Amino acid sequence: MNRIKSFLIFIIATIGLWVSNPSFAATSTEDTKEILLLNSYHRGFKWSDDITEAVLKTFRDSSKYRVFVEFMDSKRFQTPEYFNHLALLYQLKYKRAKIDGIICSDNNALDFIIAHGDSIWGVTPVSFCGINNPNDYINKIDTNRFKGVEEKLNILSTLQTMTKLQPNLDEIIVIGDNSLLFPIFLKQFNDALLQLNKPIKQRLLIATTNMQLRDSLESIDSKNKAIYLLSLYINRDGIPREMILEGQEILNNCNIPIYGNWDFLMPNLVLGGTIIKGYDQGLLAAKIMKCQFWDSHNIPFHVLPPEYSAFDNEVLKKFSINSNLLPPNHILLNKAASIFERFKTEIASTIAVLIVLLSIIITLISNIIQRKRTEVHLLESEKRLELALETANQGLWDINLERKNIFINRLFANLLGYDTPKDLNLSFENWVKYIHINDIEHIAEAYTLHKQHKTESISCEIRLKGKNDQITWVAIYGKITQILNNEPVRIIGTILNINSQKEFELQLKSAKDKAEESDRLKSSFLANMSHEIRTPMNAIMGFADLISTNAIDEEERDTYLKLIKGSGETLLTLINDIIDISKIESEQLQLHRQSFDLDQLLYNIQKIGLTFIKNNNKTLKLILIKESTKPHHIIYSDPYRLQQILLNLLTNAIKFTPKGKIEFGYRQIKDNLVQFYVIDTGHGIAEEHKEIIFERFRQGDESLAKKYGGTGLGLAISQSLVTMLGGTIRVESEISKGSSFFFTIASPTISPIQ
Ligand code: ADP
Repeated sequence: MNRIKSFLIFIIATIGLWVSNPSFAATSTEDTKEILLLNSYHRGFKWSDDITEAVLKTFRDSSKYRVFVEFMDSKRFQTPEYFNHLALLYQLKYKRAKIDGIICSDNNALDFIIAHGDSIWGVTPVSFCGINNPNDYINKIDTNRFKGVEEKLNILSTLQTMTKLQPNLDEIIVIGDNSLLFPIFLKQFNDALLQLNKPIKQRLLIATTNMQLRDSLESIDSKNKAIYLLSLYINRDGIPREMILEGQEILNNCNIPIYGNWDFLMPNLVLGGTIIKGYDQGLLAAKIMKCQFWDSHNIPFHVLPPEYSAFDNEVLKKFSINSNLLPPNHILLNKAASIFERFKTEIASTIAVLIVLLSIIITLISNIIQRKRTEVHLLESEKRLELALETANQGLWDINLERKNIFINRLFANLLGYDTPKDLNLSFENWVKYIHINDIEHIAEAYTLHKQHKTESISCEIRLKGKNDQITWVAIYGKITQILNNEPVRIIGTILNINSQKEFELQLKSAKDKAEESDRLKSSFLANMSHEIRTPMNAIMGFADLISTNAIDEEERDTYLKLIKGSGETLLTLINDIIDISKIESEQLQLHRQSFDLDQLLYNIQKIGLTFIKNNNKTLKLILIKESTKPHHIIYSDPYRLQQILLNLLTNAIKFTPKGKIEFGYRQIKDNLVQFYVIDTGHGIAEEHKEIIFERFRQGDESLAKKYGGTGLGLAISQSLVTMLGGTIRVESEISKGSSFFFTIASPTISPIQ
């Protein structure tokens, strides 16, 4: 049966070869080295794959090397018949090939080369690896042509580590199988155990099936035990599996630490040991082959590969074995990667992003700081400006003609009686309504002059309308600060409240006007005075001259004497008036209050008045109106001053009334207030003169003043005396119809003494 199977394999392989590989050396050149890698085992077996990878890598330069890889699959097929068929197959396959060197991995391949190599591929240098017993071949081969790498398991050092990690170890369970190589490994193990020289028991478990091995292990007490995994190829329907897969399946529940010597048993199976790698075997074998092409004499027959103290961290943890006990320079596999290692890429990209963000943030912060600093500086200078303006009581305005907006500061608003600029609500559209209608032209002119470069700045004094339409005088100063296309864009300036200055100016003007008026009055008074004095004086002097001549009769002399007396009286009145006004002004005029009969006083005044009318050759009626039914009306006041007031008014009335009548009298309008009146039918007083006639030296109509003379003192004295007597004086008048003077005096009525 087996024969038929092998034959079939051979036939299929042969047909496959003819179809897939018709011309071997067709593409090779003279310089290209053709290398055959002959692996004992199958493709997919880690050990063989690692060797193959290392060899292909070493000869990767396709211009110099061409590598043919063969897998003998001897773990599955290992009968001499199979190898013979394989030899026939290769014979056929490599019939036209020129192989320059052969690398063979593991004993089956080396044995095959020794048996069939020369006849199939010719006599070529051979480099071997994975050979457990190279010295056994010395007599079978030409050691000049065959060179290679020993697959030496350092079992002793692994046992030493084992006893160190498990000080109480009393039994080692050696797991092996029925493979051809196991006896070689077992011998090596026994030799090493002997060298260890420790009383440790040894139990051999040969695995035939996984169930059998599992059962055997379960029956063993795990305490102080260790497993040495030497070989575990269980033939599953003629196809052995990878040792690690087999081990992980069978031994996964095993509570005994497992030790081994191959890297392919790691991770998650063996605890560790002194490890060799298939890759190192392939690498060394390839290098030896390379050297063999040039000079094979200096190469030793066989070399040892590097070995490593390697341990599985997870398994160590499982058996709570202290990693401090591990030999120096060990390699710890299956180590839980630190968070950093696990998320290296993520962390690196996060850090990169963070760095970018950080630099953006730093840039932003420094920008913000810079801006803040500028803002602070600006704020400081703004504050300084604000403070300066506040100290100077000046408001600020800033007009942007392009954006059509007006900025004003708080002080500006305050100057117009508002708390904030918002309350004032001044805008580009409505600013005109805040300017006094008569001043709009002024400000427009000031702006135009500045715009036309005729003035250094806008400067004008205008009135602004503030809260409740209150007018505020302000001085405006401004300057065009920005120009675009020859047109002003921005104008900045200040306003200053000049109300008090304006008031002062007004006062000054009024004082000036008054001074001028007073000067004019003084001149007019002097002119009047000289006229008023000269007239009676001339009369006195003239009539006195006439009297002194003897050419007049007695009647004439009496008339002249009367005229002299009259002129003397006029002069005396004038002098009295002057004395009175000066006394009033210097507040030296004294009142002499007493009880007197008012009616009596008025009768006397009427008599004087009638005489005055007569002396002035007038035909006026002088009517005293007596409203009181009482025979005597006694009041308490200054009769002399009251008479003076009444006579002033009466003589004026007579003076300025050419014809008609004059009525005068009094009324007791209140208990302590008597009102007097003098009403004439004369020239009357113009509206504009009604007030000024009570001022000193002021007269009304100029033509009348010229005609009738006078000093302008009578009404001023009368008003002052009325005030002193506790009353007021006023006039009602209409031109050509007459005048009515009314005045009051405070005076309690006293019952007459019967
Ligand atoms: P005088 O009479 O010396 O001019 P007054 O002070 O007595 O000074 O009067 C001032 C002015 O008042 C007069 O010059 C006159 O123009 C006006 N006036 C006073 N009384 C009358 C009156 N009864 N009718 C018209 N004008 C009068």
